[in-house]
Amino acid sequence: MYCRNCGQPYVTDDAVMCVRCGVQRGTGANYCPNCGQPTPVGSQVCMQCGVSLINGAYGLRSPKSKVAAGLLGIFLGSFGVHNFYLGYTGKAIAQLVITVATCGIGAVVSSIWGFIEGIMILCGNIDKDAQGRYLSD
Ligand SMILES: [Zn+2]
Ligand SMILES: [Zn+2]
Repeated sequence: MYCRNCGQPYVTDDAVMCVRCGVQRGTGANYCPNCGQPTPVGSQVCMQCGVSLINGAYGLRSPKSKVAAGLLGIFLGSFGVHNFYLGYTGKAIAQLVITVATCGIGAVVSSIWGFIEGIMILCGNIDKDAQGRYLSD
């Protein structure tokens, strides 16, 4: 992991800010967070290693738990609770509306939807929150 502002490697993997330039981790757009090469202004992908630069939070850890999100999806998926938890509010509201607006009939659909997402979260197929941060184990 490299500082996106000054290109220096972080001292520790979970550093929250750069000790050299003092900016918060993930802030800045001058260097690739993956390989530390300079990235031209406005570039969306690193020319050097191909990593996406659109998400400033690349490589950050989410405070949200993978297990909690997965279980919420499996048990409360029809209310979109796991998506509210992870910050995917649009999807969460869709699941909630399907369930509530149909007086629970649509819960068959939304609970299967939530169940599948819960499994995908637990299996690591969905491994980021809405801010693009990796879920904690
Ligand atoms: Zn820095
Ligand atoms: Zn790179």
